[in-house]
Amino acid sequence: LEQQVRHKDGLATIGQMAAGTAHEIRNPLTAIKGFLQVIGHKLQDNGLYKEQSYIEVMQKEIDRINQLVREFLLLSKPRDIRVCTVGVEDLFAEILPIIENEALLYNVSVLIEKNHEAGVNVVADGELLKQVFLNLCKNAIEAMSDGGTLVLRTHQLNDEQKIVVEIEDTGVGMDDALIAQIFDPFFTTKENGTGLGLPICRQILTEIGGEIQVFSHETGSVFQVHLPLAY
Ligand code: ADP
Ligand code: MG
Repeated sequence: LEQQVRHKDGLATIGQMAAGTAHEIRNPLTAIKGFLQVIGHKLQDNGLYKEQSYIEVMQKEIDRINQLVREFLLLSKPRDIRVCTVGVEDLFAEILPIIENEALLYNVSVLIEKNHEAGVNVVADGELLKQVFLNLCKNAIEAMSDGGTLVLRTHQLNDEQKIVVEIEDTGVGMDDALIAQIFDPFFTTKENGTGLGLPICRQILTEIGGEIQVFSHETGSVFQVHLPLAY
């Protein structure tokens, strides 16, 4: 419990920092990116292709800073939470095009398992829950650089007013030592990772009365999202 409390404090501090500085970071970046583009064109016109490629690297790095600021902002508080009845199947349908696009790059196939619970409704903020599913699917796909299968499924826990959404991959998996760290802000094993995806997921779920659990082995992982069932 103590660790959880510390966790929360850390995120709140990050959030406050983010809210205060996000615009101060973004505005100059927009200007820098704009001028870099102008310089890039000039270099190209003059056949200075090597220098032009440096400009492209700088633009990509700016995009990364922007992404980081965006994720910081997601952690900022207070946030408008609009909890209502949300159809899990509808959410899957909304995120599917985005996921499939990403999956294509990794040679991953996406499978949405339909069962009699597929049409269930949960109590949640649809936009935030979409963010959670997208983060988890993105991680799942990134864990399958040699291809694999991403499965989304839903089932109801017996005797409980809860729905479990599972995001399963056939990727590299995680050992216990890794699992112990994955929810720490900024913890990442990826070259271009921010380490903010899972902390954001956990924070969102805490705010909407949900929960997240992880199971993993050598040939893949399952992330379970527990949500309150709606009637
Ligand atoms: P990021 O994706 O930017 O690294 P996250 O918070 O989303 O940050 O994830 C933290 C770390 O958890 C990842 O770098 C990776 O090591 C691990 N991880 C998350 N999801 C999976 C998964 N499905 N399979 C294997 N490892 C994972
Ligand atoms: Mg991630």
